[in-house]
Amino acid sequence: MSKKENRYKDYGVATQAIHTGTDYDEETGAVRRPLHMANSFKLPDDLSQVNYSSTDLLMYSRNGNPNQHWLEEKIAALHGADDAIVLASGVAALHALFWTLLKTGDKVIYPKVSYMAVYRMFHELFNRKFGVDTVMVDMTDLDAVKKAITPGTRLVHIETPDNPTNRVTDIEAIVKIAHENGALVSVDNTFASPLNQKPLKFGADFVVESLTKFINGHGDAQGGAIISNDLETMDRIRYEAQVNVGSVISPFNAWQIFRGSVTFPLRMRQINTSSQEIAEWLEQRDNVTFVSYPGLKSNASHALASRQMENGYGGVISFGIEADDKAVERFCAALKVVTFAVSLGHDESLIFPQPSYDERIDLYPEEFRKGFIRFSVGLEEPEDIIADLDQALKTIGL
Ligand SMILES: *Cc1c(COP(=O)(O)O)cnc(C)c1O
Repeated sequence: MSKKENRYKDYGVATQAIHTGTDYDEETGAVRRPLHMANSFKLPDDLSQVNYSSTDLLMYSRNGNPNQHWLEEKIAALHGADDAIVLASGVAALHALFWTLLKTGDKVIYPKVSYMAVYRMFHELFNRKFGVDTVMVDMTDLDAVKKAITPGTRLVHIETPDNPTNRVTDIEAIVKIAHENGALVSVDNTFASPLNQKPLKFGADFVVESLTKFINGHGDAQGGAIISNDLETMDRIRYEAQVNVGSVISPFNAWQIFRGSVTFPLRMRQINTSSQEIAEWLEQRDNVTFVSYPGLKSNASHALASRQMENGYGGVISFGIEADDKAVERFCAALKVVTFAVSLGHDESLIFPQPSYDERIDLYPEEFRKGFIRFSVGLEEPEDIIADLDQALKTIGL
């Protein structure tokens, strides 16, 4: 594929989110492009020029489909990038990247705290199945990263802020260490979203977004994206992972995410503001043991977060309450405005406990090991969310 054109690159982000990847439908003049629910496309009369692994020619939906391509234009634009690949889920995007870049004998450095599927891929799958040397490191400790990196290191993967502890990693510093040692850097940007953080600006080679979260924003579709300026590797990812492993997104999900993404900047700005207000309230509330939100002045990474994040600090607040696992469940169940469910970045607020029996609990800092809750702030009135948290805390006697 060639570089994605962004005709709106001189405009602001809200304008780009509305106008990139969209156009009139040529056939009908409709102001929205259609949903193409087809898995196959008419072939040219002369087959001698057809490359059946191509992702440019519309031929078979797994090789690429129009709704996927239009969404790719928009995701690339949101990151100011030359290219984006949209796949079936955030995990499909992470896998496609790792699968393409890593081979037997390569080393990958991955974070001590990361999305569960990344932990599983590197803690038990890529190492045991394919002989990849997978090394877990605390990415907030740059000396530990320097110690772990060797000439055989192919990739350093980071997540910032991380899921679920919401702590910040220094992208620029990691890029420097990795590039000096000939390694590539990928950044899972899902918690920050492209409104708040653009890792390519700090020299990262690849960015991954779970589109399921803030970018779609309505809790009704799953998708993921890889974003990069490295067009050659992006085409390898298309060939090795999309066409020949098969993680392409369905046209319907691409269409839904495209629709959700139109209001992404507007929603994210509100979520940033509400999250800051709620984090500040939680910090003052009795019986709240800690609040991990990079926008708080008291946060150890506030200065770093302010350097690499723009517009705001995201929509996830990780916090602790003075309660055991059972009481935390009762607290979550007592909420009336906030929904007790996994996932994040929806229009509605979502809450999910991180219980002390979690298999990774020992990998988290001490304060996160009791009464730990991950909270995704939605678009309800912030004062309604605060009142709801307050009444549910009172319900369990806090
Ligand atoms: C949700 C999430 C993913 C995975 O995305 P899916 O769309 O659920 O596959 C990856 N990374 C982070 C940080 C996430 O929060």
